Amino acid sequence: MFLGHFAAAFASKRVAPKVSLGWLFAAAQWPDLLWPILSLIGMEHFRIVKGDTAFTPLAFDYFPWSHSLLMDCAWGVVLGLIYLGRRGDKRGAIVIGLLVVSHWVLDWITHRPDMAILPNNDHRVGLGLWNNVAATIAVESLLFGAGVWLYSRTTVARDRVGRLGLWILVGFLALTYVTNIVIPPPPSTIAVSISALALWLLVLAAAYVDRHREVKMNS
Ligand SMILES: [Zn+2]
Repeated sequence: MFLGHFAAAFASKRVAPKVSLGWLFAAAQWPDLLWPILSLIGMEHFRIVKGDTAFTPLAFDYFPWSHSLLMDCAWGVVLGLIYLGRRGDKRGAIVIGLLVVSHWVLDWITHRPDMAILPNNDHRVGLGLWNNVAATIAVESLLFGAGVWLYSRTTVARDRVGRLGLWILVGFLALTYVTNIVIPPPPSTIAVSISALALWLLVLAAAYVDRHREVKMNS
């Protein structure tokens, strides 16, 4: 899943208004932020197999350090504690922890059974939404629309950057999603991993936009 994770991040601002959208993006996408790095250093493996699922040619053979349920629970605790240590916001820390785990749940809905429960990579599960392109796009778009709507209702722009920046960010995410559907991925796994590293820039962009918006008093 791609847009669905950002939807979870945007929507979480409603329940954890003190948390920057940058932190929310990082938590909701933490497994996908780790995955290209772990793939590049050889700790995780995937292949490019045309038609692996109808939606994506990426075959995720081994990615339990970033994408097993147990590891994502552990990462959720780690990220939540780091945030708590820095900001002292308990509610925000819990939301951050839950967001990391939400990544596994949303990927479990989308992936074919390649999502491990434990880091030993046994017992792999997945509901396989990706086998149906139309259903995937419908579910992700609806989630994304709802998430962005909640964020835009919860916060208000302080200035032009906050106003325009949000819609540029949202437009960029939507465009990236469409591009990924229309244009086949780069031919090598290394190129896929390197381009996936761009996700880190989106975390910075979200933090930047969020600094130019504030939480509405009676939203
Ligand atoms: Zn993922």
